[in-house]
Amino acid sequence: MEPNEVDVNKATSAGHPGLKLLIPEDIRYNCQGCGRCCSGWSVGLTEEDYGRVKGTDWQSLHPELAGKEIFFHREKEFAEGTAAYPHYTKPRDDGSCPFLINNLCFIHSTLGEYEKPITCRVFPYSFVETPTGVYTGVVYNSMASVRNIGEPLSAQREKLTEYFNLSIQHKNASMRPGELDAQIKAVQDGSMVAPVSPFDKVKITPACELTWEEYLLIEDRMISLVLSRLRNLDIKTSAEVLEGRPHVQNEGTAGSGANIFNTLLQCGEILMQGRKLKVSGGNVADIASFEPEIKIPAEPQASGTELMTLRMLYYRFFVYPTVRTSDTSLWQMQRKRAFEPKVAITVAKAFSKYIGSGLNTILMAKAGLPLLGNVSLNTALSKDFAPIDDETDKLFHRWLYLKLFSKSYFGPAAAGFSVLSGFNCLTASILSVLLFAKAAAINKKAEAIAIADIYEAYWRLDRELLTMGQTPEQESKFYNSGLSSPRLFNKSIWTMAGSLKL
Ligand code: SF4
Repeated sequence: MEPNEVDVNKATSAGHPGLKLLIPEDIRYNCQGCGRCCSGWSVGLTEEDYGRVKGTDWQSLHPELAGKEIFFHREKEFAEGTAAYPHYTKPRDDGSCPFLINNLCFIHSTLGEYEKPITCRVFPYSFVETPTGVYTGVVYNSMASVRNIGEPLSAQREKLTEYFNLSIQHKNASMRPGELDAQIKAVQDGSMVAPVSPFDKVKITPACELTWEEYLLIEDRMISLVLSRLRNLDIKTSAEVLEGRPHVQNEGTAGSGANIFNTLLQCGEILMQGRKLKVSGGNVADIASFEPEIKIPAEPQASGTELMTLRMLYYRFFVYPTVRTSDTSLWQMQRKRAFEPKVAITVAKAFSKYIGSGLNTILMAKAGLPLLGNVSLNTALSKDFAPIDDETDKLFHRWLYLKLFSKSYFGPAAAGFSVLSGFNCLTASILSVLLFAKAAAINKKAEAIAIADIYEAYWRLDRELLTMGQTPEQESKFYNSGLSSPRLFNKSIWTMAGSLKL
């Protein structure tokens, strides 16, 4: 093994009996109290969560809560299986949580940390259970995690163990009445086979299945590549800091230099080689010595379908959530009520907003957000800017490493995506973040992309990846099949890299 390679199976263990908690390297997070993760969604509460807070007369405790409805209830729908939780917090009109007061959680400051809904306590940490252990991570819907601020996760083992146990407790408490008992009884009396890990088999493409061990070999090769780039960038930027020099701009070309575009293209080739070894009956372990080569496409222009798929994902990450959070009445509406004549006008108005913004972004290629002005996404993709700096390149590599390590981009943690669809979604995410930041720069008439716009785009993006990952598998089939082509966004990568002179 090369010195900069990582054997993920030997990553840190929390030392909890029977629990192998695997923690990514050099990933940091501690809450900085910005309050931004407390908006954009209704927090789901289990009966246990609700039981801890329902006895408090919140409206009498703070003028901001006086006379406000702070919860809405879906007990019947939860029992029927059409709602994920029996209770929810009712967001304000701007989408923020009703308990967020002066950027602090009012439940936390009134009753204490332990009384908050478990979802809020555990956020933004993620836990994915697999046959080789529980892989931890953080999502970037927090400015502290986007900026990698705080204690390394490797120094937070006790907390991670506690939060993992809480997340299991939460998962059990989220089950419908009697569901858990019925499952245990069925396994005991033999009428149901004990569930095997959903990761025992991994679909690298919708038609090609790997064992978990084979998947880890391929992932290990990709992680080694990403980490070696990340370490080189760390060494380079530390030297610049020591010498008092500003961060230099990235060097090289997409084909030969070490930058995020090169990394995405090479990781895509590693995935394809892994699949080839499997379908040809070769030894998947040979992937360890595979050196991915990148070829400049003969026809460099992305096709209309490729660009439209990219814009569709850009819409899903950035525009759709803005429309969704702008209409809290529809957001909280029970699905079956959407067909009632009484609410027909509200539903029709909301749908016209979705359709209008969708056409504007996907077909007309407009950036689609007031923050970004009326900028064309086609212009944003190809317009030349100064190369991204090393800090931005590090951010992209760190995020890619985190997604790969935490196993949150495919399979059960991502609504059943195949590995290839999940990886294409990660590629589209990085391109979309850059489209967002370039559109912002065009709108501001700036000559370079601002890292603050990259942070903002990531904060928005990761919340949507999280919610996409929680959609029922049936609903995610549309994305899964649309993203399952090999090298789907390669031409867009080349265009973006060329525009940044990389
Ligand atoms: S309950 Fe508290 S921690 Fe949870 S979203 Fe609301 S303000 Fe934030």
